[in-house]
Order: sequence, then structure tokens, then C-alpha cells
Amino acid sequence: MAQIVKLDAFLSNKIAAGEVVERPASIVKELLENALDAHSTNILIEMEEGGMSSIRILDNGDGIQADDVETAFYRHATSKIKTDRDLFQIRTLGFRGEALPSIASVSHLTMRTCTGEGPGVELTLEGGHITSRTPSKTRKGTEVIVQNLFYNTPARLKYLKTVHTEAGHVSDVVNRLALAHPNVAISLYHNGKEMLKTTGNKDVRQVIASIYGRNVAKEMVAVSGTSLDYSIEGYIAKPEVTRASRQYMSLFINGRYIRNFHLARAVQEGFHTLLPIGRYPVVVLSIEMDPTLIDVNVHPSKLEVRLSKEDELAKLITSSIQSAFNKQTLIPEIKHTT
Ligand code: ADP
Ligand code: MG
Repeated sequence: MAQIVKLDAFLSNKIAAGEVVERPASIVKELLENALDAHSTNILIEMEEGGMSSIRILDNGDGIQADDVETAFYRHATSKIKTDRDLFQIRTLGFRGEALPSIASVSHLTMRTCTGEGPGVELTLEGGHITSRTPSKTRKGTEVIVQNLFYNTPARLKYLKTVHTEAGHVSDVVNRLALAHPNVAISLYHNGKEMLKTTGNKDVRQVIASIYGRNVAKEMVAVSGTSLDYSIEGYIAKPEVTRASRQYMSLFINGRYIRNFHLARAVQEGFHTLLPIGRYPVVVLSIEMDPTLIDVNVHPSKLEVRLSKEDELAKLITSSIQSAFNKQTLIPEIKHTT
């Protein structure tokens, strides 16, 4: 056997990138989550060629202190958790400190950032190596530009699909985060063309209209419910509006899009027999809960989570949907004749 050696940071970041940076959409997800964690109220995303040739994301959030800009590109460097205890009460979308070093290791990256106090910093990196650091703009916020994605990982580059497919995945990611954060104005442009523009006026129904169209938004019914540990707010489409895929069922826990078979089934159960076989509802549900009851550290993408009281939540989802429908009197009232 050859001698055992500790890999250098560039190589280990590139290995981590294999998990975090699958395609342009994963980059947009990570950068958009960073912008949201930084308390931005306005976020602009521009991509060229499905994000394969360029991704740019500009926010008006907290910015990074000049002294910390390089540190942000170290693996496992984060401002979001400090101790063991923090790991079990995550309130932010990020916390692993892996996105920036991973993305930088497989691209040419430029970051301009400023906290609003003093001049900002512009840092450029190629394959994770810092190539320049200069003073930058003084407006509060952060701008990240990612180009030449996967230039040094040819197998990954080959695996990318068409512009259309990659742009579609980016669009899905941005749409979901926009639905979960109606208080933030988010816009997405592809090759200069507007794909999404939300106002940030907190009205989820307006975001639904921008994504699924006015006709669907018109057919949405408000849902709300609370139990000891959970509260739910959101909208469900009346059973006349169904889709052939589960894609249109969006569940968010504490602002994070999650995939969970059990909870998706609880949604369908709320519709009971109103759903034709093989059809799925259009649903947007935001669940708020105590972060100590959820483990988001299951997978690097954080799509899957573990809930300690999943059954309680499933029951709440089903009953909230049922009572939203009852209020709407979709079920015809029985008229008594004398
Ligand atoms: P994580 O989000 O898990 O902390 P990242 O690698 O995504 O890890 O980012 C590292 C750190 O860089 C963050 O913890 C944050 O302090 C800072 N950062 C990244 N993006 C932004 C941004 N858009 N605005 C402000 N700070 C940012
Ligand atoms: Mg992050």
C-alpha cells in the first residue's frame, strides 16, 4: 500500500464539490440561500446558457467583513454556527460552510462584497486559488459571479444537459425559494430574458401567480393550522386544478424546501377522494417549528430532513387541508326541505 497522506485543501474541496455542486441549479441554490441568510430584501440572479457559461447573483444583504472574505472560502468556515448546540437549532438555510469553497474549486469565481462600512473587497479565484484581491464598491451587499463551471472537472462538464434543461432546473430552484420567501424581491433572468420577478410584498398568492399563472392563483384556497409544535400557512388549489406530477407540491419547513414522502402523502390525504387517480394537487405550505425538533444535517443538499414528531405534523397537514375545503363548502350542503 502507498503511504497515507492528508489531501490538500484544493483537492478536498474539489471532492466535496462532487456532492454540493452537481449542476448550475445547485450553485444558484447555494448562492441564493446565502443571500437569504444575509437578510437581503432584494436579490437579482442572471444566468447565461442555462448557467453553464455564467451565473451572477447580486444581493443587498449584510455583506462580508473585509477581514473575513478569504476565510469564507475555507472549507467548513461559516458565520452561522459556532458550537455543538447550534447544530441542533439551525435557523439559517446554510451552516456547513461548504458551498463557497466547493463552487470556487470547480470554476472561475469573482466576489464583490461590502458591509456598508468602509470600502468593500473584490476577490477573484480560479479553481479555488485566489488570483487577486482589490478594493471594491461601497454599496452594502454581495455579488458573486461564477464562470467556466467545471472547467477542471471534464467528467462533470460532460454530464451537463442542454441549455433548456439546465435553465429549467435553475428556474425550479429559484421558484421554490421565492415561494418560501415572499418577503424578498427575487428576480431571475436567462440570457437577458425575465423568468421570474417577485415584489417582496409578502403576498404568497402573487408569487404563485408569477410562477403558476393567474388562473391557478385564482383557484387557490388559504390553509392554516396550528398544533402544539407546528404552525402551517399556505395555499392549496381547488381539486379542479390538478397536475400529473408531484412537482407542484411545495413544502417548506422554516423557509427550507424539503422532500418528504410521508408529508406529501398527508397532503394528498387532505384532498381524499377529490383527487383523480394519478393526479396531484398544486400546494404551497410553509411550516414553522422549533428548530430543535428538526435535523437538517442528513444530506449535503439538505433536501431531506428528520423530524422528531412527523406524525403530529402529518395529521395537522391533513386536517388543515380538510378544514380549508370545508370552509370553502366545496362539498355541497345538504338542503333540508320541509
Ligand atoms: P454556509 O452558508 O454554510 O455558512 P458558505 O460556504 O455558503 O457556508 O458561506 C460561507 C460564509 O460566507 C457564510 O457563513 C457567510 O458568513 C458568508 N457569506 C456567503 N455568502 C454571503 C452573502 N451573499 N452575503 C453575506 N455573507 C455571505
Ligand atoms: Mg451557504
